[in-house]
Amino acid sequence: MGVPADQLETTLDTWNSAVKNKKDAEFVRTTAMDNDLNSAPYYAIKIGPGIHYTMGGVKINSNTEVLNKNGKPIPGLFVAGEVTGGLHGQNQIGGNSVAEILIFGYQAGIKSAEFVKAQ
Ligand SMILES: Cc1cc2nc3c(=O)[nH]c(=O)nc-3n(C[C@H](O)[C@H](O)[C@H](O)COP(=O)(O)OP(=O)(O)OC[C@H]3O[C@@H](n4cnc5c(N)ncnc54)[C@H](O)[C@@H]3O)c2cc1C
Repeated sequence: MGVPADQLETTLDTWNSAVKNKKDAEFVRTTAMDNDLNSAPYYAIKIGPGIHYTMGGVKINSNTEVLNKNGKPIPGLFVAGEVTGGLHGQNQIGGNSVAEILIFGYQAGIKSAEFVKAQ
């Protein structure tokens, strides 16, 4: 794994005693503390944070029309998905983006076709 062995040992000891005592002083964890790491085999994977959604973007109405600064729809401009903003409030809950792009993408298709037909 290429990590300092003594630090890894300390981490494992800390976790094992947290599981044993049902008390996680480090992270105050209360769930999924059933399994200690006292016996092999061990497997390691590298994990890290990643960006999976962009919260900002243009404002739309329920017809997927882009709104101008005065909140009025810009004729003929329909968008959906990551380019939009504000749909999820302060935080996008995992999984909701796929629902968003399907529902609003479908809506944008319908509304833009209606717009073209009406020209
Ligand atoms: C690692 C990761 C994990 C995720 N996990 C989840 C999850 O579990 N559940 C969930 O709901 N959401 C998840 N998301 C978020 C979700 O995948 C995205 O919000 C969603 O795919 C965005 O769809 P979109 O159509 O708006 O944009 P995109 O999928 O980004 O589509 C935009 C498309 O436009 C194309 N494009 C860009 N510029 C041009 C151009 N000039 N001309 C022509 N084409 C262009 C791009 O190539 C791309 O194909 C995850 C995202 C990431 C990155």
